[in-house]
Amino acid sequence: KGKGKKAAKAATKAVEQVAVLGAGIMGGGIAYQAASKGMPVVMKDIAQPALDLGLNEAAKILGKGMQKGKVDATKMAKTLNNIVPTLEYSTMKNADMVIEAVVENPKVKGIVLKETEQTVADDAIICSNTSTISINQLAENLDKPERFCGMHFFNPVHRMPLVEIIRGEKTSDDTIAAVVAATLKMGKTPIVVNDCPGFLVNRVLFPYFAGFSKLVLDGADFAAVDKVMEKQFGWPMGPAYLLDVVGMDTADHASGVMADGIPERMQKIDNDPVTCLYKAERLGQKNGKGFYDFG
Ligand code: NAD
Repeated sequence: KGKGKKAAKAATKAVEQVAVLGAGIMGGGIAYQAASKGMPVVMKDIAQPALDLGLNEAAKILGKGMQKGKVDATKMAKTLNNIVPTLEYSTMKNADMVIEAVVENPKVKGIVLKETEQTVADDAIICSNTSTISINQLAENLDKPERFCGMHFFNPVHRMPLVEIIRGEKTSDDTIAAVVAATLKMGKTPIVVNDCPGFLVNRVLFPYFAGFSKLVLDGADFAAVDKVMEKQFGWPMGPAYLLDVVGMDTADHASGVMADGIPERMQKIDNDPVTCLYKAERLGQKNGKGFYDFG
C-alpha cells in the first residue's frame, strides 16, 4: 500500500514553469498570481498592447500592495521579473502547464489549444479558464485529451481564493493531481468538479441572478435589493453590484449558456434587465456604467 502511494506521488507532475495564453483581465491576473508565488510565467497574447495591459495589471496590483505595506520593492521586482511577455508560441515550449485564458469563443480556443499542443512537451499539462464552454468539447481539439482539464479562476484573480478544476471525461487522474498541486502552489483553494454547464459556482450564482432579474421585473428597486443583501443579510455585495463587477456581456452570455444547458433549472427571461443593459452598452464596471454609474 505504502509503495503504491509513493508511486502515485511520483507520477504527479511538478509544475515549475507556467504559460498563460491571453493577457486580458484573467490572463494578466493568473500570470501575476503564479509569478507572485515565485513561479516563472510566460504570458502570450497576439498583440503588444494586450501584453502591456496584462503587465500593467500585475504592476497595479503590486503597487496597491506597496501602498498597504504588504509588498516591498524587492518583491515587486521579483514578481514582475518572473513574467515573460511574448507574442511567440516558441517562448512557452518549456512550460509544465499552460493555462488558456483567451476570449470566450470555442473556435478561437480550439485553434489556440491545437497550437499549444504542437508547441509544448508531450507531458505538459494544458488547462482552460473557460467559464461556460464544455471541457469535453474543448478536449476534442487535442491529440492527448488526458492531459487537459478546466482550471477556472475567479475575478479578480489575486483576491478570489477559489479555483474550480474541471475534470473532462478523458482527463487523467495524474492531470487532476498535478493541477490540484499547482493550484495550491499558486496560493489558491482547489475544488474538483465534473464537466457540466456552470460547473459549481455559476450553477449557484446564475439562478440567483435570474431570481434577482425577476424581482426587478416585478418592480423591485435594484439598489434596495442590494442594500438588503449587503447591510441586512450580510453579503459583501448585492446582486446588482455583483453583476456590474462580472460585466453584463459576460453575464448575458453565461445565463444563455446555462438556460440552454440546464433548461430544467434555468429558463431565459423575457426582457431580462441584464440583457437590456447589455444591449444599451451598460456593461458594468468595465465601461463605467451598468446598474450603477462608476465615475
Ligand atoms: P479579455 O477579453 O480581457 O482577454 C482576452 C485576451 O485574449 C485578450 O488580451 C486578447 O488579445 C487575447 N487573445 C485573443 N485571441 C488570442 C490568441 N489567439 N492567442 C493569445 N491571446 C489571444 O477576457 P477575460 O475576461 O480575461 O476572459 C478570458 C477567459 O477567462 C474567457 O474564457 C472567460 O470566459 C474566462 N473567465 C473570465 C472571467 C471574468 O470575470 N472576466 C472570470 C472567469 C473566467
